Amino acid sequence: MTAVLSTSQKVREAAYRIRCNALHMGEVQGQGYVGQALGAADMLAVVYAHQLRYRADDPHWQGRDRFLLSTGHYAIGLYAALAEAGIIDVEELETYGSDDSRLPMSGMASYTPGMEISGGSLGHGLTVAVGMALGLRHQGNGARVINFLSDGELDEGSTWEAAMGASHHALSNLIAMVDINALQADGPTAGVLRTEPVADKWTACGWFAQRVDGNDVDALLAAFDAANDADVPAVILCDTRIGRGVPLLENREKAHFMRIEEDEWAICREQLRTGFEGVSA
Ligand SMILES: [Mg+2]
Repeated sequence: MTAVLSTSQKVREAAYRIRCNALHMGEVQGQGYVGQALGAADMLAVVYAHQLRYRADDPHWQGRDRFLLSTGHYAIGLYAALAEAGIIDVEELETYGSDDSRLPMSGMASYTPGMEISGGSLGHGLTVAVGMALGLRHQGNGARVINFLSDGELDEGSTWEAAMGASHHALSNLIAMVDINALQADGPTAGVLRTEPVADKWTACGWFAQRVDGNDVDALLAAFDAANDADVPAVILCDTRIGRGVPLLENREKAHFMRIEEDEWAICREQLRTGFEGVSA
């Protein structure tokens, strides 16, 4: 008899596989933005294993919800999620970052099925999301736009222009998720530019704001339920831990772009497996 999985358990298993696959991709290359993928795995799993409406065999289906990865360097995590969704093959993940691969280190919409935008010039994702959400509404298309952005992108003026624009147009078909991992390329987010109190800023811009533990699947599921009911744009502020699930990487000082020694990969794999015992299918 096949056990019926709860939504929560299904998403947890997806998040575990996303972490395993991201770690594997990093190992093939010997480096990469592994920490971000591990930290955001639960957010990506909730989106791809529960929230997003899509057709795996038709990535351009007009009725699909659009997931916009504003942070192009998180592509390693998104590729693992796209494999989880069946949009790309798990075997293809091994080509990550190689010449002629459809899976470059920084996401490129023209290369990868299911990749909606080429993020990477940070601070642009939400502006594109606003235009897309407005366009869908004009077309009478009921699809949603979900924009994933980072706490570092809250330093960018364009993000706040977009936030005000979304509110002005009452874009209830737009949800933003912010990965608050407290780190950006130049150092700790709080030291680069103070953005707290973050939730108050979004609320002041007219958004329905919630702040949750971004590594807590149940909290994320509940936040999406509330966000979907809002009649204004909704933001889910997700506090995450970079490297989540692999203590060796969680405690690494230079975590933005990780170099992992050859003998450390086996330790990473083992720590991930042990930490998620009882979760993996
Ligand atoms: Mg960050």
